[in-house]
Amino acid sequence: MHCPFCSATDTKVIDSRLVAEGHQVRRRRECTECHERFTTFEGAELVMPRVIKRDGTRQPFDEEKLQGGMLRAVEKRPVSMDEIEQALSKIKSTLRATGEREVPSEMIGNLMMEQLMNLDKVAYIRFASVYRAFEDVSEFGEAIAKLQK
Ligand SMILES: [Zn+2]
Repeated sequence: MHCPFCSATDTKVIDSRLVAEGHQVRRRRECTECHERFTTFEGAELVMPRVIKRDGTRQPFDEEKLQGGMLRAVEKRPVSMDEIEQALSKIKSTLRATGEREVPSEMIGNLMMEQLMNLDKVAYIRFASVYRAFEDVSEFGEAIAKLQK
């Protein structure tokens, strides 16, 4: 691919490794012209199921929205981009593995909470409190109790 810095057509791969449990290849590349380095990800393009919203309407799966939600939850928390990418990729592979053409939006929310629970407890609480829109404090307390287990 072309160098994103100087648009030279020749770049070389200096490192290549499997990431996201083998579902992606990450390559470090170096431009042979300007010697800038950059990273590319390669993964199979598989069709994601559509999303059934709570009101019954359907939407295409929106990866940016998922990533946005995740980034907001982990804001200012000690979670690396690597960990976020891995978590997102796990959510996507779980959704694909259902083999369904449509999945309820709650399922995506629950998968997100599962991932956040492993990544960072504060991020989890943040997301859960917004996502579930806790009706009262006892619900919020339940979530915290779960964390203390
Ligand atoms: Zn270049």
